[in-house]
Amino acid sequence: MTTIIDGKAIAADLREKVAQAVSALKSTHDIQPALAVVLVGEDPASQVYVRNKGIATEKAGMKSIEHRLAADASEDDVVNLVRKLNAEEGVDGILVQLPLPSHISSSRVINEIDPDKDVDGLTEVNAGRLILGKDGLVPCTPQGSVIMAKTVRPDLTSLNAVVVGRSILVGKPLSMLLLAENCTVTMAHSRTADLAAVCREADILCAAVGIPRLIKGDWVKKGAIVIDVGINRVEEGGKSRLVGDVDFDSAKENASAITPVPGGVGPMTIACLLRNTVVAAARRRGVGEIDL
Ligand code: NAD
Repeated sequence: MTTIIDGKAIAADLREKVAQAVSALKSTHDIQPALAVVLVGEDPASQVYVRNKGIATEKAGMKSIEHRLAADASEDDVVNLVRKLNAEEGVDGILVQLPLPSHISSSRVINEIDPDKDVDGLTEVNAGRLILGKDGLVPCTPQGSVIMAKTVRPDLTSLNAVVVGRSILVGKPLSMLLLAENCTVTMAHSRTADLAAVCREADILCAAVGIPRLIKGDWVKKGAIVIDVGINRVEEGGKSRLVGDVDFDSAKENASAITPVPGGVGPMTIACLLRNTVVAAARRRGVGEIDL
């Protein structure tokens, strides 16, 4: 029987643990962690994401602060706001909603964020910490992907992991996290020769590509764990629906466990953002490490 890894349930469980940690910080240290989100412009999808993050933050007992700038705000306006938030003692996490308008350099803005408040884990400092195996803040989607894999196989040591996709946001950090779990990691990408053969070697197969159902069932080794990060909107039978980068129906015939889309990795991303915020708050305020 193939296990369908239930992202909603795992995310709900993590959010509950975060809420408990927040409550303990309040009662023991009188600390209420705060997450500041910066939204530039009026992109409808970004507005929804920011609203959902705010609701989730408050539900977990943390303070949510929203800063909205007009679409024509200058790069310096955004940088100055980030610097102001860096300096604010009561702000534990800063998230700049991407994408930024095209006249603003995301890289410059992101790297202005104090690395200890960088709850998206996207600054160069946190990328460096991840590679060096030092404590930092880890990007949320890769973090959620590993948590999900470990629900079915708590010890990933010695497994062959194949990560398809080498983006800064997902593929690269996910590969580093799997390496830290003692997997033997292969990073595959658009120039990989014979992707199907590479995937067939995987005990853990992770897809972060952005191509609907790229990975076919017969690319999945019998008994593999499949983590599908892809979220792709397709029109089928006159209806619009979300599908992953893995052909779920055929892949589940071979996989021992697989994440669905929707309801897989997606819900984990916000849960890990909340986790990073409470972890950052405890570190910054001298309380130490929170184990979630
Ligand atoms: P990206 O476009 O930045 O990177 C895609 C990667 O796929 C590239 O490294 C590229 O080399 C590789 N690739 C492209 N075509 C390929 C091919 N034919 N064969 C093999 N590799 C190929 O995308 P991303 O930001 O990493 O996102 C990937 C997917 O994950 C998207 O569907 C995105 O919507 C989804 N995503 C989901 C979440 C979530 O919360 N679950 C978060 C981030 C991204």
